[in-house]
Amino acid sequence: MTKKLQSIRGIHDGLPSEVAKWRKIEDVARRVFSSHAVSEVRLPILEPTELFVRSVGEETDIVSKEMYAFKDQGSGNICLRPEGTAGAVRAYLQAGLTRSGIQRWFYMGPMFRRERPQKGRLRQFQQIGTEWIGVSGPVADAEILAMAQHFLDALDIQMVRLEINSLGCAACRPAYRDALITHLNACSEHLCKTCHERIENNPMRVLDCKNESCQAQSADAPEMLAHLCSDCDTHFSNLKESLNALDVPYKVNPRIVRGLDYYNRTAFEFITEQLGAQGTVLAGGRYDGLVESLGGPATTCIGFAAGMERLAMLMPDIKTQTVDVVAIALGDLALPYSLKIAEQLRREGLSVVHAGGGASKRQFKLADREGARFVAIIGSNEVEHGLISLKNLATGEQTSCSIKQGIALLKIS
Ligand code: ATP
Ligand code: MG
Repeated sequence: MTKKLQSIRGIHDGLPSEVAKWRKIEDVARRVFSSHAVSEVRLPILEPTELFVRSVGEETDIVSKEMYAFKDQGSGNICLRPEGTAGAVRAYLQAGLTRSGIQRWFYMGPMFRRERPQKGRLRQFQQIGTEWIGVSGPVADAEILAMAQHFLDALDIQMVRLEINSLGCAACRPAYRDALITHLNACSEHLCKTCHERIENNPMRVLDCKNESCQAQSADAPEMLAHLCSDCDTHFSNLKESLNALDVPYKVNPRIVRGLDYYNRTAFEFITEQLGAQGTVLAGGRYDGLVESLGGPATTCIGFAAGMERLAMLMPDIKTQTVDVVAIALGDLALPYSLKIAEQLRREGLSVVHAGGGASKRQFKLADREGARFVAIIGSNEVEHGLISLKNLATGEQTSCSIKQGIALLKIS
């Protein structure tokens, strides 16, 4: 027998039951985000590799070992985007929007990271993300968090808690970084191999390591919150006050860091206990330095991204496509009329499957399989008098009526 081909490891198919959830997530995102005047953008999946090297940073796992990057024929190095923020900022600069005031964008689509596949951790996954470019104060931070909370509430996703932290800024982080490095060097024999390497090149990432021994060592590590300069400290206090005013519950977690280099000040995650180690469903923060590092003017920004597959795992099953009517033709002469009626019903907004004529037993069986609400039975009598016979498969009730009456009946029941 010919061997069946499989999809690439960590890359899943979106079958109807999964896509039904994704569509709900997308619909809710569009509705909730538009209440904050956020507009949709659709950005490329292929980007120059350099974009992520310069923004996400060479020292991050994402860039150093997880990118699907390759040499394009003739031109430079390109890659499948691992995240959405860098591309959004590139697009913002390329479109010359730096003098056009605040831009509030959202996007949804696939991202690619070559990580070890696990439940809730895929190599191709989808994110819904938002970027608010040009907003500076803590009020914006609180409002984007209120939008995230509203989004999760509207999806009826409960048991998710918000944790916030401040990552400081260029003024206060260097001193903190030194203190952290000193602490990590003192306990380095208890850290995993990756964290060993992180001590020098990305020490804050150790705080985020999922390895138990590393977590034990970061428990008494110095905290950024204790090293904030007065501007960062005020920003964080005002953020907390605004969250209180907005009734958004949160917990301060000094160990929240972001995996990407470009974040500063506010960092946050919405976390659930229901997905094991892959418990972060939505994460983000401020990235005031990114626009400048990609060649634009200093521009304050904040954003977040949610993993659609993880959100979907927290949602109950959703009914996929339903069938209102299966059209059954009794006898070859009834077939043309039954096809016409099926099409007429579809144009009235009903979902109709034609059973294809032939043996009536097979056609009724098909109606059962489709889980149809009604069968439309078309025989010689219906053809002759221009009628439709409808049988309600739940109650067994059958009526013969004009097409117009039939449509009305199908629409109300
Ligand atoms: P994690 O700590 O789980 O690796 P991350 O910090 O790498 O997440 P971000 O880059 O901030 O995640 O991405 C935002 C969201 O995208 C995550 O909270 C998660 O819901 C989702 N996400 C990230 N990586 C994956 C993946 N490999 N598979 C599925 N979803 C993912
Ligand atoms: Mg990750």
